[in-house]
Parts: sequence; C-alpha cells; structure tokens
Amino acid sequence: MAFRRSLYKSRAQLEAMIEPGLITAASLAAVRAAVRPGISTGELDAIADRVIADRGAESNFKLVRGYHNTTCISVNDQVVHGIPGSRVLQPGDIVSIDAGAQYRGWNGDSAITVIVPGEADSALVDARQALSDVTEGSMWAGVAAMATAKHLGDISAAIEDHILAGGPSVVSGRPYGILREYVGHGIGRKMHESPSLFNYRTSDRGAEVRPGLVLAIEPMVTAGSDQTYVEDDDWTVTTTDGSDGSHWEHSVALHDGGIWVLTAPDGGAAGLAPYGITPAPIA
Ligand code: MG
Ligand code: MG
Repeated sequence: MAFRRSLYKSRAQLEAMIEPGLITAASLAAVRAAVRPGISTGELDAIADRVIADRGAESNFKLVRGYHNTTCISVNDQVVHGIPGSRVLQPGDIVSIDAGAQYRGWNGDSAITVIVPGEADSALVDARQALSDVTEGSMWAGVAAMATAKHLGDISAAIEDHILAGGPSVVSGRPYGILREYVGHGIGRKMHESPSLFNYRTSDRGAEVRPGLVLAIEPMVTAGSDQTYVEDDDWTVTTTDGSDGSHWEHSVALHDGGIWVLTAPDGGAAGLAPYGITPAPIA
C-alpha cells in the first residue's frame, strides 16, 4: 500500500522550506540580471547552476529522471520545459525561466518571464509584455486567493478569472489560452507532490486549503490557442499555432499566521499589496 504524504506540513517543515525557496529566488534573480541579446540559454543555465551550488544546494531539476539541466528555458512559442543549450537570445524574445533548488531535503520551485532588451518591433514587445503581465498577475491572483480560499478550486478560479479578464490577446484578438495539461502542484520533500492545482475551473472543488499547505502556483498562458505539442527533444512544450507563451511560478506556504511566498525575498509583499494582504513570516 502506498504511503500518502500528508498535504499539510508542520511549522518545522515549513521553516525547512525557507532556505531552498530563497536559493531558488537567488538563482532566478541572477539569470534575470544576465538576460541580454547574444547570450545563450545554456549560459543562463550555468549561471543558475552556479548560484545554487554556491549556496550548498542542488538543482532539483537534475534529480528529475532523464533531465540534465538546472533550469528550463522556453523561448517565444515554447511555453514550458525548454532545454537550455546553444540557442542565442535575440532582442524582443519572450523567455520563461523555471528553476528549483533542493536544500537539506526540501525544495523550492519558481519561474519568471523576461523580455530580452534591445532594438525590436515595439508592437511585438508590447504584446509580449502584456502576455507576461497577465500571466504574472494571474499567479498573484492565485497567491492572494490562497490566503482566504476554502478549497483548491477557489485558487484555480481566481487564476482563470484574472487571465480571462486580461481580455483579447493583442496578437490573436482572442482570449489568452490557458494550458490544461500542465498544472501547479504541492511541493515539499519532493518538488512535485499532491495536490494538483489547476489554472482553470473544474467540477472538482479540490482539497481543503488550510495551514500547512504549500503550493507551487504556476499559470502557463499563451497569446493564442491552448493547444501544445512536445518537441522532438521529448521535453519542450510548444504552442501548435505558434503563439507566444509565458510561465510564472512561486512556491507559497499557508501557516497559522498567514501566507508567505517562499520563493520571493519579500515573502510576496509587493505582489500581494494590490490585494491588501501583508505576508506573514513563518519564523
Ligand atoms: Mg517550476
Ligand atoms: Mg512547478
């Protein structure tokens, strides 16, 4: 009989998740600062890898069977799971970077989207920034909802509502697409734990949201269709209609005192401010 890990963690367990969260955040901050035209995705991966190793942690992506990099870097029509390598970034590219650190047996998982600076078609850059903004905003809507949600489905609904309220995408004139085959998840001793967190409404209201729950909230949004395929590398998830993708993610803990974003150095204060929520430190 399979042992079912509890969905709800103790205070000591939540405290153990602070450092891997901060290391994950540091790795992404270093990558963000290095994004420029002419750098390769492989070089960005090496930067994240160095930050994680320097802080005595290891990449939890490398612990995933068959995956050999520290980050996933997905460019333009790639939404998630892009493999870093020789691809060189161009001005105006929309780049989603996903990273995670494991430290003393506990995990962090976070993703950001960045538009590569430099001379590029301004309408294209504006459209890509709008896509990133609606995706990031939907993540924060989900984090804010977690502070008061009764069930996981409340968080999913808040994410979906924010994306659909973003209106037609500038590029396609249609609503933004929400990936349905890839979802958020619990996180703890393993990077991917129960429960699954959908980025859209389902008929299932989902597990109870109460102190001890830690979720990786990670909307994956496109400027067009929600249909994707996996490239021949067996990893990269790319839109079938060629529209751009964006991915934002934070690992978030709910505890007796409130909510805390483990993968944000400010605990989520800036992102939650528009919701009138002040994050509460775990320790
Ligand atoms: Mg991730
Ligand atoms: Mg994740």
